[in-house]
Amino acid sequence: MSIAQQLKAIKNKLPQHVTLVAVSKTKPVSNLMEAYNAGQRIFGENKVQEMATKYDEMPKDIQWHMIGHLQRNKVKYMAHFVHLIHGVDNFKLLKEIDKQAQKHSRVINCLLQIKIAEEDSKFGMTPEDAKGILSSNAFLELKNINITGVMGMATFTENKAQITREFTLLKTTFNTLQALQTDNCNLKTISMGMSGDYQEAIACGSTMVRVGSSIFGSRNYN
Ligand SMILES: *Cc1c(COP(=O)(O)O)cnc(C)c1O
Repeated sequence: MSIAQQLKAIKNKLPQHVTLVAVSKTKPVSNLMEAYNAGQRIFGENKVQEMATKYDEMPKDIQWHMIGHLQRNKVKYMAHFVHLIHGVDNFKLLKEIDKQAQKHSRVINCLLQIKIAEEDSKFGMTPEDAKGILSSNAFLELKNINITGVMGMATFTENKAQITREFTLLKTTFNTLQALQTDNCNLKTISMGMSGDYQEAIACGSTMVRVGSSIFGSRNYN
């Protein structure tokens, strides 16, 4: 199947309230343009430099999502265009995003990454860390960021019960954090689910799935 056909097949399986992020990391612009021409406008990348290069080369009505682990010193290279940063896992990073967004008179949307995987050593903060950040006075001072939800990655396993348990933890965390809405925290997004587990994620309450290989084919990292 072509990229356009695979994209369509996935979209047909998604309920209307679930947003599809087409994860295009390592793929050439020609592949992304196939998806773009089939109507896709949201792309996810995990390297800042690669995303910035693609941003320069591609149409400007695309929403670019940073889905990877993010180092503070890289924020400045995407602050002028990034639409949503999924992997915010500490307060210092949030402060840097706020500072760089201010330089461009923008408000950057962010998701707090919560560590839900029981086995894999994935990045992310605990639900308690998230609560601590959102209820602190220091957080209220960040006027150029908006926390719009949470993000998580399940363990890479065949064990569906475990995956469901982990996704349910993210949904529960989201529900708890919703009590803490502020001017710069308006929770509506639960980013969870990839090619291998997005159906389970949706069943557990996902509102945003990040799908790569099922659209663009497997990745070659060499
Ligand atoms: C690569 C990646 C995805 C997409 O993975 P696929 O299995 O190719 O769908 C989703 N989320 C994150 C954070 C990723 O790094």
